[in-house]
Amino acid sequence: MMNVKAYGAHAGQAPLQPLDITRRTPGAHDVQIDIAFCGVCHSDIHQVRSEWAGTLYPCVPGHEIVGRVSAVGPGVLGFQVGDLVGVGCIVDSCKTCADCHDGLENYCDHMVGTYNGPTPDAPGHTLGGYSQKIVVHERYVLRVRHAESDLAAVAPLLCAGITTYSPLRHWKVGPGHQVGVVGIGGLGHMGIKLAKAMGARVVAFTTSESKRAAARALGADEVVVSRHVDEMAAHAQSLDFILNTVAAPHDLDPFFALLKRDGVMTLVGAPATPHPSPGVFNLITKRRSLAGSMIGGIPETQEMLDFCAQHGIVADIEMIRADQINDAYERMIRGDVKYRFVIDTRTLA
Ligand code: NAP
Ligand code: ZN
Repeated sequence: MMNVKAYGAHAGQAPLQPLDITRRTPGAHDVQIDIAFCGVCHSDIHQVRSEWAGTLYPCVPGHEIVGRVSAVGPGVLGFQVGDLVGVGCIVDSCKTCADCHDGLENYCDHMVGTYNGPTPDAPGHTLGGYSQKIVVHERYVLRVRHAESDLAAVAPLLCAGITTYSPLRHWKVGPGHQVGVVGIGGLGHMGIKLAKAMGARVVAFTTSESKRAAARALGADEVVVSRHVDEMAAHAQSLDFILNTVAAPHDLDPFFALLKRDGVMTLVGAPATPHPSPGVFNLITKRRSLAGSMIGGIPETQEMLDFCAQHGIVADIEMIRADQINDAYERMIRGDVKYRFVIDTRTLA
């Protein structure tokens, strides 16, 4: 076991604070990573504040991890000390079910999340990337092929990147498609960049007037402020696919009205309380579908990282010290970040 400095909380109502945690000595198939940067996902806020059921404390969030390999177990084949690597939302799964077999560990019933998941390691649940080091089975470690100078901006790809890439691929978004991305936060801004790189025409939907110009700069062909009914109406029945990343419950009907016949809206946002049910006639009259998607499997995460390296795609980030995390959470809740906070975990020392 080794002692590691981390940032986390002892209760849902408590601010995050410095914590001392332990990591296991690498086992035969484990990779030990010195974490350089960790992105700040809205799921971290939902989980650490007990907005979702079942948060275990102490809670150390963080599942957008990048760094360098600092040790490997004797059975590790794919990684060496010094390699640039990433870890996303998954650190274990059953490895035997049909989902694991298909490389869709994200849908395994026994998937272990990077934090708040079951583990024999102390304290009995996994602790995430707001920390100096992590030890992970090599199956769940990703190779980073971007330049090292991009490393901080690669971190958000490990969750925000794969969570938007996977549904865009699953619903076969590409040239000739009109795609709506709703909510221009960490996930949404990656959704715009990835859908553009896949060849689609992208319409961004935001509640924030201040993001109108900024979303164009990300590559959106058009930006709609969704509070403006006339702007929404101008896009009626024009979209093939909508990726909805919003972190709060809201009325889905105005967005369904923008889908063509057979259009699909996929929810990736995971608010603590449900959205109001969409109007049935809004679905049946145009054979529209409502779907959901959760992160992505390990092979697809590697594919996404390689796609981003090839296309020069990284996240737009604002770097913070670990001790700025509580302020960063408040700013995210206000929608005041363009577009992802990334913790320089070296400031934990
Ligand atoms: P984020 O950076 O905070 O962005 C969320 C965006 O949603 C905001 O920037 C804002 O965009 C919009 N929004 C927030 N509150 C809103 C409100 N009350 N009304 C309307 N719009 C609102 O969050 P994120 O990290 O991208 O995560 C987004 C959601 O996805 C979270 O619920 C998170 O837990 C979930 N998530 C799911 C998965 C998955 O596997 N399915 C993975 C990661 C995260 P505008 O300012 O543009 O309106
Ligand atoms: Zn996340």
